[in-house]
Amino acid sequence: MIEIDGSAGEGGGQILRTALALSMCTGLPLRLTRIRAGRSKSGLMRQHLACVNAAVEISGAHATGAELNSQTLAFTPGPVRAGDYAFSIGTAGSCTLVLQTVWPALLMADAPSHLRLGGGTHNPMAPPFHFLDRSYAPLMRKLGAGVELKLQRLGFYPAGGGAIEAVIQPAAEHLCPFDLVDRGALMEEYAECFAPALPRAVARRELDQLGKDLGWDGHQLREAPVRQHEGPGNALLATLVYENVSEVFTEFGERGVTAEAVASSLVRDVLAYRATEAALGPYLADQWALPLALAVWRRRGEAAYTCSSVTAHAKTNFEVIERFLPVKFSTSAVRGAVRVAVAYVS
Ligand code: ATP
Repeated sequence: MIEIDGSAGEGGGQILRTALALSMCTGLPLRLTRIRAGRSKSGLMRQHLACVNAAVEISGAHATGAELNSQTLAFTPGPVRAGDYAFSIGTAGSCTLVLQTVWPALLMADAPSHLRLGGGTHNPMAPPFHFLDRSYAPLMRKLGAGVELKLQRLGFYPAGGGAIEAVIQPAAEHLCPFDLVDRGALMEEYAECFAPALPRAVARRELDQLGKDLGWDGHQLREAPVRQHEGPGNALLATLVYENVSEVFTEFGERGVTAEAVASSLVRDVLAYRATEAALGPYLADQWALPLALAVWRRRGEAAYTCSSVTAHAKTNFEVIERFLPVKFSTSAVRGAVRVAVAYVS
């Protein structure tokens, strides 16, 4: 039984998701207390409960405390079962976070899985679909974990209604850790605005401001196609494609914030990443830790990556991973960035 204190470090929902994922990958039962104690509304919110329920479904787990507002969860997984699954959050909660909870476990299954996920696809404080598709999924494939992702319908807070499909290939025997310390040459940079059910002028103003600040021209500034009945929503994305990695930065428009201010926030994120030579930005840096550690564990190997910063979120994630897997994370400063190494420990 692995006992995890949910108030440790950053004290948020990531502790729960990482613990569930690795409990299923290793078969080790989990007891999580003080769930999300670092947040103003602690305990399991609907979005977190959706992750627990999805984990129960794919692993036939026995769970106690899997209810709204619960502060404690006991989770004993069974063997992970590949299959066709549909997970719907029922609100605009992020369905990409549900996907990331079950993804590592389904890699350990013995056949492909087909997932249909419903909820928010572009949420603040969660990986937007395009980030998963362009940044995270290509790295997973490089690790040996085949995956196909499809966006069926955009979903924004508060309406939700988004839909994603994922096909996850089993990979336990193929996972192979690799170093990612250099982003490589710049191949392409572009921005898109997804703004369903909003006046076109909003998207145009955001893109124009971004173009002005970053020196990007017309063909790099795209009003993304949206379908009827999507939204309302407003996500401004900047995609930077390098030889070895792609980064996607996202900013959300909201009432009372000008289109120009939305663009300026996004420009700050892009410039902060460009100011370093690190391979990964801050979000990818915390999300890459788990799949890389899985591969290091399976191969009894080691690997490293560089990132623009190691957030409290990332540090907390490293600590939870170390509780489940025989791996050790270490960090060191390199040329204005951070090098994160993860090694198997016997
Ligand atoms: P809470 O913290 O309230 O419990 P939560 O369950 O949503 O909320 P967090 O612990 O904050 O979870 O984790 C959010 C995850 O979303 C992190 O892995 C973070 O890297 C990722 N994320 C947040 N914003 C972005 C973004 N713009 N692009 C990519 N990933 C993001």
